[in-house]
Amino acid sequence: TTLDKPAPGRKPGAAARRRVSVLLPLPFPGPFDYALPDDGRLDDVRPGEVVSVPLGRRTETGVVWDRDGTLPPEFAPPPGRPVADGRLKPVIARAGLPALPAALRRFVDWVAAYTLSPPGLVLAMALRTSQSAQAAPAQGRAQGWAPADPPPAGLRDTPARRRVLDVASRDGPLGGAELARRAGVGAGVVRGLADAGALRPVTLAPAPAFAAPDPGHCPPTLGDHQAQPAQALRDLAAAGGFSVTLLEGVTGSGKTEIYMEAIAACLAKGRQALVLLPEIALSAQWTGRFARRFGAEPALWHSDLGPRLRRVTWRAVADGTARVVVGARSALFLPFAELGLVIVDEEHESAFKQEDGVTYHARDMAVVRARMDDAPAILVSATPSLETLANVGAGRYRHLVLRARHGGAGMPDVRTIDMRAHPPERGLFLSPVLAAALDETMGRGEQAMLFLNRRGYAPLTLCRTCGHRLQCPNCTAWLVEHRARRIVTCHHCGYQDPTPPACPSCKAESSLTPIGPGVERITEEARATFPDARILVMASDTLPGPAATADAVARIARREIDLVIGTQIVAKGWHFPHLTLVGVVDADLGLGGGDLRAAERTVQLLHQVAGRAGRAEAPGTVMLQSYTPEHPVMQALVLGDFENFMRQEAEQRRPGFWPPFGRLAALIVSADTPEAADATARALGEAAPHGDGVQVLGPAPAPLAILRGRHRRRLLLRTRRDIAVQPLVRQWLARVPPDRGARIDVDIDPISF
Ligand code: ADP
Ligand code: ZN
Repeated sequence: TTLDKPAPGRKPGAAARRRVSVLLPLPFPGPFDYALPDDGRLDDVRPGEVVSVPLGRRTETGVVWDRDGTLPPEFAPPPGRPVADGRLKPVIARAGLPALPAALRRFVDWVAAYTLSPPGLVLAMALRTSQSAQAAPAQGRAQGWAPADPPPAGLRDTPARRRVLDVASRDGPLGGAELARRAGVGAGVVRGLADAGALRPVTLAPAPAFAAPDPGHCPPTLGDHQAQPAQALRDLAAAGGFSVTLLEGVTGSGKTEIYMEAIAACLAKGRQALVLLPEIALSAQWTGRFARRFGAEPALWHSDLGPRLRRVTWRAVADGTARVVVGARSALFLPFAELGLVIVDEEHESAFKQEDGVTYHARDMAVVRARMDDAPAILVSATPSLETLANVGAGRYRHLVLRARHGGAGMPDVRTIDMRAHPPERGLFLSPVLAAALDETMGRGEQAMLFLNRRGYAPLTLCRTCGHRLQCPNCTAWLVEHRARRIVTCHHCGYQDPTPPACPSCKAESSLTPIGPGVERITEEARATFPDARILVMASDTLPGPAATADAVARIARREIDLVIGTQIVAKGWHFPHLTLVGVVDADLGLGGGDLRAAERTVQLLHQVAGRAGRAEAPGTVMLQSYTPEHPVMQALVLGDFENFMRQEAEQRRPGFWPPFGRLAALIVSADTPEAADATARALGEAAPHGDGVQVLGPAPAPLAILRGRHRRRLLLRTRRDIAVQPLVRQWLARVPPDRGARIDVDIDPISF
């Protein structure tokens, strides 16, 4: 436990004060010790309780932290210097918030140790949510009425009054209006009874913010290929205990349908469930589906939640009234009272990696969270990550596979269009082959989709006279033209400018030329080619928020749209029953850049896009415009042979100990000047760890060599799988003296390498 008992024979007080450790949501290396106040008011404070403490001249909110280590020794941070008893400051008060459960505290410690982040910054993710809650109670308390016991002597008895008292004792306590309604009397009768002292006021418990989902509300009739995996998941959730299962199945095979059965079993057992989605825009569709299955909405959690809902939800998760939470990665840090199941949908998505602040991968941390709560975890994907497949291969994860689409819908027919043989006309981007297919599809009254993972009009603007390119002043990146908004903007730092009328370099007028397409430009081309088509553009900048996205999806489902043109947002798990043709404008797009994971990511993305086609009765066709149709990525998509492709990927990474066969940490050095960045990067290079199974690559320019005006260098530490990178990085950083000009960010398990 946390509380140090006073040493025997010594009186509590100034000489030997009782201490508690309090972790503050701030970037310190660990918790601070505080004294319990002498008046004994907080003597019973327990780990997890939220308290206010002095810090310098300020008052901060923190959490009473366990002092005995819960971490594996190689992770444990070095102990801080103990503070003498006499100098400890006392805890001020309890903050009036639910305590953080032990499993969440251990999770915070674990994430901090694994990601090499200050534990307070991880705690901040668990608390951020609640801080605005301190002043106001979660909900107003309503007043209700119950019969006085004993009743007042000499009460005038009427049939109306008797009905009210009967209802109040049978159904009560009830609010006045509800009581009158149920008794079939006017409000005056209730008031009269209250005045006479026959009804006494009671405070009603607040109505729960979240209705309880009913596991038996509307269970599905499972298809033949679904029954066995569904039963396996139900059994896992009902049995409880930590395990990880990969639920793999082609898009439309019913994975969502089936993991809802695991949720049903978890609910029936009286435990809470957490479902992580990669994209919060998906939550509206998901929530509707959940409500049809369980008769109640789940709680939603993401960073755009308003402060009131955030407060209410946080408390409802803590007190157990929110039974199912669906959310973005930050939902991992909610204070679940009795977590019994963790699901990660689209587990392969890179959106699960948080890149700012504490850099963590929500899929991996979800597995850790499940372990802390001794609950099963289910990872769901049509195209699982190589990491997860390796864990399956090593026997660490179970594997359930759904091989067919539900209801006998066929897999789409995937073909490449060789752009060398069928080039588009000058200045256009759609091959005549694709244009003809689009025309035919829409002519039959079916829907079509064009996919291009690039926002804006053109990714590059070039001066035809002098060759100047419009570049971000803060980043190593082109400015992207957004023609509708008449701006050029940087997709990395947000810098923007009105689109210049003349070349900023040689001043030549009307010489700036857009190079390459973005969705806006493809839309322009489609409007010109198919003037009668009803076209909808779906991109993150044209759809502000989940409601707009849900609305767009609904319009497509109602067949108000003939052609959808979109960026990666269209690739998500949407169900478009009338869509039969998907054209990928530039299937080669993700393959450049020399990132070892590029092929895996491209296959996953394009497979996901392809999965939008032909989900109902009509078969679907997918056309991939490519200059390299012989590339293994295109072949895997055409043959639908994801398994074989991933096996080949694995064989490429295995010899060099690249993830998942080895471990990786990236150190990113950033500084205001290239000299400062180089100096620190060099110092890191000289102090690099070495040894058997340990290798350091770099320093080299980081993938974005300049970002937001900061010059960036990268070093990669690669180790064998049986060697933990955290202690190596910790010791490495300790060997390099801190430099005022440069900062070093650590990214454990970087997703690009
Ligand atoms: P996935 O998550 O694998 O893409 P879904 O669970 O979304 O698949 O299922 C695809 C479609 O098939 C959805 O519209 C879903 O409602 C429907 N579906 C799947 N299984 C069943 C079932 N057993 N009964 C009725 N509809 C089902
Ligand atoms: Zn920029």
